[in-house]
Amino acid sequence: MTGNEIRKSFLDYFAKRGHTVVRSSSLVPEKDPTLLFTNAGMVQFKNVFLGVEKLPYVRATSSQKCLRISGKHNDLEAVGRDTYHHTFFEMLGNWSFGDYYKEEAIAWAWELLTHEWGLAKEKLWATVYKDDNDAERLWLKISGLPKERVRRFGEEENFWEMGETGPCGPCSEIHIDQGIEACDRKNEKGHRCQVNGDCARFIELWNLVFIQYNRDEKGELEPLAAKHVDTGMGLERISAVLQGVSSNYDVDFMRDLIRTTEEIAGKKYGNDSAADVSFRVIADHARAVSFLIADGVAPSNEGRGYVLRRLLRRAARRGRMIGLKEPFLFRVAASVAEVMGGAYPELHGAAGRITEMIRAEEERFGETLEKGLVLLEEAVAELKRGKKKALSGEIAFRLYDTYGFPLDLTEDILRAEGISVDQAGFERLMDEQRNRGREARESLQTDSRIQLDREIQFVGYDRLDAESQVLAIYAQGQGRAEVGEGMELDLITEATPFYGESGGQVGDRGTIETTRGDQMEVMDTQHPTPQLTVHRGRIKKRRMQVGDKVYLRVDDKFRHRTMLNHSATHILHSVLREELGGHVRQAGSLVAPDRLRFDFNHTGAIPPDKLEAIEEKVNERVRLDAEVRIEESSYDEAIRKGALAFFGDKYGDQVRVVRIGDFSTELCGGTHVHRSGEIGLFKLQSEGGIAAGVRRVEALTGEGALELIRRYEQKLREIGELVRAGEEGAVEKVKKLLQQQRELEREIERLRGQLGKNRIPDLLAERQSVNGTNVLIAQVDGVEAKQLREIADQLKEKMGSGFIFLASAGENGVSLVSSVSPDLTKRYHAGNIIKEVAPIVGGGGGGRPDFAQAGGKEPSKTSDALKRVWEIVKTAIQ
Ligand SMILES: [Zn+2]
Ligand SMILES: [Zn+2]
Repeated sequence: MTGNEIRKSFLDYFAKRGHTVVRSSSLVPEKDPTLLFTNAGMVQFKNVFLGVEKLPYVRATSSQKCLRISGKHNDLEAVGRDTYHHTFFEMLGNWSFGDYYKEEAIAWAWELLTHEWGLAKEKLWATVYKDDNDAERLWLKISGLPKERVRRFGEEENFWEMGETGPCGPCSEIHIDQGIEACDRKNEKGHRCQVNGDCARFIELWNLVFIQYNRDEKGELEPLAAKHVDTGMGLERISAVLQGVSSNYDVDFMRDLIRTTEEIAGKKYGNDSAADVSFRVIADHARAVSFLIADGVAPSNEGRGYVLRRLLRRAARRGRMIGLKEPFLFRVAASVAEVMGGAYPELHGAAGRITEMIRAEEERFGETLEKGLVLLEEAVAELKRGKKKALSGEIAFRLYDTYGFPLDLTEDILRAEGISVDQAGFERLMDEQRNRGREARESLQTDSRIQLDREIQFVGYDRLDAESQVLAIYAQGQGRAEVGEGMELDLITEATPFYGESGGQVGDRGTIETTRGDQMEVMDTQHPTPQLTVHRGRIKKRRMQVGDKVYLRVDDKFRHRTMLNHSATHILHSVLREELGGHVRQAGSLVAPDRLRFDFNHTGAIPPDKLEAIEEKVNERVRLDAEVRIEESSYDEAIRKGALAFFGDKYGDQVRVVRIGDFSTELCGGTHVHRSGEIGLFKLQSEGGIAAGVRRVEALTGEGALELIRRYEQKLREIGELVRAGEEGAVEKVKKLLQQQRELEREIERLRGQLGKNRIPDLLAERQSVNGTNVLIAQVDGVEAKQLREIADQLKEKMGSGFIFLASAGENGVSLVSSVSPDLTKRYHAGNIIKEVAPIVGGGGGGRPDFAQAGGKEPSKTSDALKRVWEIVKTAIQ
C-alpha cells in the first residue's frame, strides 16, 4: 500500500464503524490560543473534551496535519539526524466523545493492525498505565497476548497530557518488535533491547488515550463528565512498517521528495551519510513550510512567521551542503503538492503563494548565507586556535542581525564542530536591539509586505470609505517604493474599509485615490495572513507610492449585494436546522454579490415540498424585518449562549456575534444588513448533493432574485408566443400539443401495421414448395420488429404447415423473424437458424424452436442473410 492508500484504509475502516470522517484542522490552531501549532489530532476536539462544544456526531476519525517544533514536543534538532523524527507529520486518529471506551478502542486497533493490515501478532507488544487494570485485562482478553507482552509503565510513558492544563488520562500503546537486526546499539556492552528502551528495535505504533480528567490551573485532576477515547498513530511510521522499510524517509511519499532533491542536486541519496542528513532535512522542511504557508502563515521575525522563516533558512543551508546554490526548495515544495495534494487540496489552492513565498525567502537569504558562513568559518578557526568551546554572543548576534542566521541555525552548524553559543550574551544583545528598534519598527515598512507584522485595522463595518496611508506596495514578486500606470500591484494601507475575503464572503472591490489624482482600481481584497489585508488591482491613473495619503472607497453596490446574501445565508442556516434537524452543519459557503451558496451536512435529497417550505420560512423572516445586532464577546461565552461556530473559520479570544431577530446567532466576521427586511426577496435556485452526506443549495436575494424571476417570466412569455397561447394559456396548450403528438404516434403505428397486412396476399404468393414443404423467405422493408412479427403470425395462420423467414431493412437497422409450424420443428429450429444468420447483418439473437427474432445493424447485408437462410433450408430438406 502507498501512504495515500494507508491513510484511506484507516479512515475507511473507522468510517465503517460509525465514525464521521473529519477534515484535518489547520496547523494554526483555530480554537486554542495556548498552542503555537496543532501538534495532535485531538487539538480540534479539545473543546468537546472540555464540555464547552458539542458536535453532531460522537465518533470521529481524521488524518491530522501536525507540527512539532516548539514547546513540550520539539523534534527540530533530531530531524534528519535519525530516520524517524519529523517536524511535520500526519497523525491518524479515531475518537469517541462520551461514546465507546477502552474495550472497543483496543479491539478495533488490534483488528486493524493484525487483520486488515496483517501485522504478525508475534511482533506486537502492548503497554498500559501502572494502575489501569481494566486496560490490561482487555488486552489479554482481546489480543490473546501472553501476560509478559502486556507491560505496565508509569506516568512518564503512559499518562497523556496535552499541556500544562487540559484533558488528560491513562494511555495504552502498541509497540512493534522489529527484530534484533533493527537494534542500533547491539554492540554496546550491557545493552538490552526492550519496549520503551533506548534502541531502535522496539517502536511505538499507536497510542490509545483514555481521557477521563481535566488538569486545572492548580495542577489538580478533575474528572470529566463523560469519558472519551483519543488515539494517534503517525502515518509515516506505520507506512514504514507496512512497506517493510526501516526508515520513515524510505516510505513512498518521502522518497518522492528525496528523488526531486536528487534530481535538482544531481546527487544520490544513500551514498554519503552526511549528505543524507541534508536530503532528509530538506524533505521534512519542504513539507512543513508548504503546509504552513497553505494555512496562512507568512515568513516574519516573530511567532509562527519566524518558525517558518527558520525552517526555510535551515533548509536553504542544508541545500548549500549538497551543492545547491540557487533557490531549490520551492521546486521540492511543488513535489509536496503533487504527492499530498489529493488528500490536502489546500496545497493546490495555495500553490502560487507557496512558490512565491519560498522563492522570495530563498533569494533573500541566498544573498547573505554565503557571507555569513565565511564569517562563521573564520570565527570557528579562531576559537580552535584558542582552544575555546563557545562562540561569543556578539558573533551569533551579528550572524542573526546582518546575515539572517536564526540562532538555532548557527547552533546547528556549530554542533558538528563540538562548539556551543553564549546564549546569554546573544539574548542581551537581542534585548538591546528590541529597545532600539521599537520605534524604527513602528515606522513605515517599505521593503515588502512579507516583513510587515502589524495588524491592519478594518474600519469597513460601518462605513465604505476612509482615509489612510500606504504602508507597502508589492508588485512582480517584490516590495516597491512606487508603481506606475497600468501595473498590477498589491497595496497595503494602515487602515481599510475594504473587507478581505474570509468566512466565505468574497473580498471587496472599489478604488483608492490620492489628492494628486492618482488612482488604483481594486479588483479583490485578500488576507494572506489573518492580520494582513491586501488590496489587489492595477493602477488606472498615474502612480502609487509608499507613504501616500490615500482615500479608499468600496464599490457600494458590490458590497451591498454581498451583504444581503451574507445575512440571508445566516437566516437560511437557521431555517435548515429547524426544517431538517440539528445535525445540519455548515460545510462551506460562498457569499458573493450575485449569489450565495451554502454547503451542509445532510443525507438524501430534499423533497420539493420541503424546499418550498424552507424558501417560504426564510422569506417570512425577511419580512419580519428583524433587527441585526452585532456584539463582541469571548469565544467561550458566545458558544455557551448558543452561537453557531463554523467549521474551518478561525476564531480568536474575542469573537463577533451576529444575531438576527431571535432566530439566528452565529460567530461571524462578515458584513451584514441592519434589518432583515433589506434582503427583500429570497429565491432558492438549486439543491443537490456534492459529496457523500453533503448537500449544496444556491440562492439569490434582492435584485438578484428579482432578476431570476424576470428571466423565468421571459422564458414563459417566449413559450406562450411559440405555442400561440399567451403566458396564461401556455401550459394548457403544451399539454394539448403533447396529447396530440401521442395520438399521432399511435396513428402512425396503426397505419404501418395496416401497410404490412396489406402485403400479406403478395407475400403468400412468394411461397415456394421445396420437396412438399411450404417455404416462405422474403424481405418486407419499412416495418418495425413488432409489425414484422404480426405479419409472420398471420402468414403462418394462412399457410398452415411450413417455414417462414422475414427480414425488414430500415434506417435504424434490420429486423429478422423466423417462424416454424409445430410439425416441422424437428427439422427446422427457428432459434438456431436466427442465431446463425443474425451475425451476417451485424447482430445477434436466438429463440424457441417454433419462433425467434433478432436485430442487426447492417441493412445492406440483408439479402446475404436471406441467401444463407435458403442454403440452410435446402440442406435440411436434403
Ligand atoms: Zn537494542
Ligand atoms: Zn457569516
